[in-house]
Amino acid sequence: MDADITIIGAGVIGLAIAETLTGNYQNVFLIEKHPTFGQETSSRNSEVIHAGIYYTKNSLKARLCVEGKRLLYDYCKKYDVPFKNCGKLIVATSEEEIPVIKSIRNTAMNNGVDDLILLEPEQIAGLEPNIFALKALFSPSTGIVDSHSLMKRYETNTINNGGQIVYGSEVTDIKRIKNGYYITIHDTDNKNFSFTSRIIINSAGLTSDKVSEMVGINDNNLKILFCKGEYFRLNPPKNRLVSRLVYPVPHHNMEGIGVHVTIDMGGGVKLGPDVKYLESNVYDYRSTASKQEAFYKSAKKFLPFLEYDDIAPEMAGIRPKIQKPGDPPSDFYIMEEGRRGYPGFINLIGMESPGLTSSIAIAKYVNDLIANTIILL
Ligand SMILES: Cc1cc2nc3c(=O)[nH]c(=O)nc-3n(C[C@H](O)[C@H](O)[C@H](O)COP(=O)(O)OP(=O)(O)OC[C@H]3O[C@@H](n4cnc5c(N)ncnc54)[C@H](O)[C@@H]3O)c2cc1C
Repeated sequence: MDADITIIGAGVIGLAIAETLTGNYQNVFLIEKHPTFGQETSSRNSEVIHAGIYYTKNSLKARLCVEGKRLLYDYCKKYDVPFKNCGKLIVATSEEEIPVIKSIRNTAMNNGVDDLILLEPEQIAGLEPNIFALKALFSPSTGIVDSHSLMKRYETNTINNGGQIVYGSEVTDIKRIKNGYYITIHDTDNKNFSFTSRIIINSAGLTSDKVSEMVGINDNNLKILFCKGEYFRLNPPKNRLVSRLVYPVPHHNMEGIGVHVTIDMGGGVKLGPDVKYLESNVYDYRSTASKQEAFYKSAKKFLPFLEYDDIAPEMAGIRPKIQKPGDPPSDFYIMEEGRRGYPGFINLIGMESPGLTSSIAIAKYVNDLIANTIILL
């Protein structure tokens, strides 16, 4: 075999996997179609280190988020990746929402997040004097991270470990062969090149379902639906009026967690993301200026100082959802596909939020799958 392990996709998850695996194995390749890392979902998100509050008990999202948060804080400290453990408030702005935040606290407890504090209005005013809330849950372990610096560090450590990163090369075909796979890539010089690999890790984000189909796995439950999330920025000087993450109570089916206030490492404040399934899977990152009214109205409920002209469209990201509209929340799909006849082919599909937070824990999980796979191969 030319390669022992080939990882497809250099987003934050593929890079974290590459760093971990190159620390344990030799002959590891990371293939990315863009000229550099993180050109898709990994650079179009809220950069929040989630606490692990909302997810279904024992789901991969719940487990890998709680573990990933801890690992990520440690990693950022070790490698000087900029982060801020700023904390987050989940606010109830009506009487009906008060029981909801209490139930969120129970869900969090079930996931091992036992540090949430229920705050009364005067305590909320002590933390964030400019917001409105009847009650709030404070999550002290939530934070933000500079995702570009994080990915750069994963990349550097991968290279230092001896991993090979190949940019500008799109995987276009995969065939099962004896003891491995035959992979064809198409590069920026318009040339095709093929090589063999014992193990494949499909971390191709928005097109991970297509990569999975290349090898022969056609599963309707793994079809990705592009689900757009747009952001508006809060113009200065009002961005100084809030210093923590502030979230409304989430939508009932968790398609998104509501238009919220996110701060970034530079002190900028964003509102968003909203949730909109696209009619087809197109890379539509355009901002919709006409959404200003809806963003303004949503945020005004807890940001009383907000005026209509304080916000402007900023950017958009696309969630790789396997959850169909109206369905209950889906989990991360991380699977070694031996049972379907593809041993050593590991799929990561539906890697939406909290994928950034969980990236190191996901990498450990994949490392364990490989340790078991090698025994089976
Ligand atoms: C609006 C929004 C907000 C979010 N907020 C947060 C948050 O605050 N906190 C959090 O923890 N998570 C958040 N997330 C989730 C997080 O961004 C993702 O889970 C994470 O970025 C996914 O990383 P990835 O590496 O799987 O995917 P990607 O970043 O999409 O990387 C996949 C890579 O694969 C490459 N690729 C695809 N097909 C091929 C091919 N055939 N050949 C070669 N390369 C290929 C792509 O070019 C891409 O670079 C958010 C997501 C969105 C959309």
